[in-house]
Amino acid sequence: MNYKIAHRAASLSPSLTLAIDSKAKAMKAAGEDVVGFGAGEPDFDTPQHIKDAASAAIAAGFTKYTPSSGIPELRQAIADKFQRENGLTYKASQIIVSNGGKHSCYNVILATCEEGDEVIIPSPYWLSYPEMVKLAGATPVILTTTDRTEFKVTPEQLRAAITPRTRLFILNSHSNPTGSVYTPDEIKALGDLCVEKDVLIMSDEIYEHLTYDGAVVKSVASFSPAHQEHTIIVHGFAKAWSMTGWRLGFLAAPEPIARAIDAVQSHSTSNPCSFAQKGGVAALTGPQDHLPRWLAEYARRRTYAWQKLNSIPGITCVNSKGAFYLVPNISATGLKSADFCARLLEKEKVAAVPGIAFGADDYLRISYATSLANIEKGLDRLDRFVRSL
Ligand SMILES: *Cc1c(COP(=O)(O)O)cnc(C)c1O
Repeated sequence: MNYKIAHRAASLSPSLTLAIDSKAKAMKAAGEDVVGFGAGEPDFDTPQHIKDAASAAIAAGFTKYTPSSGIPELRQAIADKFQRENGLTYKASQIIVSNGGKHSCYNVILATCEEGDEVIIPSPYWLSYPEMVKLAGATPVILTTTDRTEFKVTPEQLRAAITPRTRLFILNSHSNPTGSVYTPDEIKALGDLCVEKDVLIMSDEIYEHLTYDGAVVKSVASFSPAHQEHTIIVHGFAKAWSMTGWRLGFLAAPEPIARAIDAVQSHSTSNPCSFAQKGGVAALTGPQDHLPRWLAEYARRRTYAWQKLNSIPGITCVNSKGAFYLVPNISATGLKSADFCARLLEKEKVAAVPGIAFGADDYLRISYATSLANIEKGLDRLDRFVRSL
């Protein structure tokens, strides 16, 4: 049998993150004392009232197919969230509930991009964006940013990258992996340019609620009706409500795009899990008092990690303003990021994600979605490792 793999699948890059992660897990299983900085998810439990709502839904038999784009109650609760928190008016029909924010991103790219289209992605990027673009047959165009600009693209950079083939610009503020947050002025300038050039924006706002230092959060869609017409907002329950395993995300799009995504979803995955959707309703309409507690804890860890990283000779690190990641610059050590991470895991049993996975070989990604005790232990080891080089 010739197991011919379709080009679209064969051309995907395998995930370096997963390679490091599975090695770390294997070492842990063998009884080794591994400190993991790889987590891309909160270390807090899903708030109880959300779990209760899903349990009650199961008990009540809410276990069947729902409309493929989500139950009306949840789509309305999401539309209300955009009105309340972002000043954005959407009809429930413009909201599509999906199996996670990742699925929402994929739906957007699949519904809007095809062969010959270019998609502009700032690096360091969330590693799935370029692979999704390739799956859609389109071409990723990477805009490199560095810690010198807090990993933000400038309008000049974006303008120079836009061609007649540009279909989509992917904006991820707050960013995974860098944790950087664009100011409202910076976002508006990028949005103005996309409106002028008639380029769609996919704005991945999943870390919206994880903000530090009083950074002002503004969606690119919210500057004018024209900005909203050029923007698809991707969001989800994974990060601010710690619901990564529930697979529940959503998007808000101009009507024609929402209709196209509805069709894609109805023929691929159908609806997201019925009782998870009831949990989603509880997440949006219930108390939000977990957030200030989580944020205070993340902020404490972030400050510690940021200071400790900068105290290590050969490492510099800009502070993050959002999400739960830091990306220390390791270029002064002379090691490439994959080599650095492999040796760090081998020698000191610390798992971090090499920046090469995010298109940025001078950096590592350190997640502080783990206890302060773990962070202290892991960064002490990192310190020892770098000094030994
Ligand atoms: C976590 C994350 C998502 C969505 O994750 P899901 O688990 O699929 O909801 C989307 N974008 C970024 C940048 C993320 O870090």
